[in-house]
Amino acid sequence: MTATNQKTRTRNRLTSTIRQWFDADYGNGDLTAIRARPDRVELLRVLPFVILHLGCLGVFLCGWSWTSVGLAVAMYLIRMFAITGFYHRYFSHRTFSTSRGAQFCFALLGACAVQRGPLWWSYQHRHHHKHSDDPEDAHSPIVRGFWWSHIGWITSARNFPTDYSQVRDLAKYPELVFLNRFDTVVPILFASSLFTLGHFLGQWYPSLGVSSWQFLVWGFFISTTLLFHATSSINSLAHLLGNRRYATEDNSRNSLLLALITLGEGWHNNHHCHMNTARQGFYWWEIDISYYGLKVLSWTGLIWNLKPVPRAAYENTHRISGNPNLAPFHPRRP
Ligand SMILES: [Zn+2]
Ligand SMILES: [Zn+2]
Repeated sequence: MTATNQKTRTRNRLTSTIRQWFDADYGNGDLTAIRARPDRVELLRVLPFVILHLGCLGVFLCGWSWTSVGLAVAMYLIRMFAITGFYHRYFSHRTFSTSRGAQFCFALLGACAVQRGPLWWSYQHRHHHKHSDDPEDAHSPIVRGFWWSHIGWITSARNFPTDYSQVRDLAKYPELVFLNRFDTVVPILFASSLFTLGHFLGQWYPSLGVSSWQFLVWGFFISTTLLFHATSSINSLAHLLGNRRYATEDNSRNSLLLALITLGEGWHNNHHCHMNTARQGFYWWEIDISYYGLKVLSWTGLIWNLKPVPRAAYENTHRISGNPNLAPFHPRRP
């Protein structure tokens, strides 16, 4: 390849990456060619994460107040619930039913978490369950190490497109496809709303000591950065640390600490073995806040048909070994 050709190719890739920030489906027609690219960190795709983390430093300029800290905590909890309860347990695994209107609201809430659109998230997650900890897995800490599974994989061009053929059950809803395609619209509106709210609260209630910048830094940047790392810890740490109740073919683990910070996702070994249940903590002591939230939503009639933990989940525990927490992991050969 000549130097001119190489330059043109690099320029096309840069243009396409930038355009994909505004239209995630741009240039994603040939999935085979995209998958043939080397799986590596792409610097331009790292930029949004750098901005997200740098935004947290704004705290040194705008300071803090109890209201803004409370806002950060609330935005973390609400959006973590949207990711675990809706993006994961509803869109990816269909573990309960709801109406089309509520489904759209769930997708909107999930999109506020800045973890891309519901179809991309579900496609990547279903792919993870199919290939957990084998060489095809996009984010296995066993195959590619901690940092790749935690953040590197998201910056690889190979993992950027949504394979709509793998989420046909969701792709039949044009409103979901729209949110998925223009996946920066909701986060921008969300951040702008916080900024505006902070401005007016600062004007109307000066005793709160808040400002537009403080709301943006605490409610968006700090809260979203923590949310990102907590969610990513399920891809990375939940395949490295904790106990194994079930001898699944991957290295998934159960961890109380991860379950607490992710509202229930830390019971990852339970989930890998029985992924089609709305509940991930199988015993009363396995705290699963997202499940409690879903149960409350089911009492309101907003959602229904929560899939229960299968009887086999309790029987298999005893069948594996005398010590169910130490079932062995046998890595699959590439
Ligand atoms: Zn996993
Ligand atoms: Zn899952």
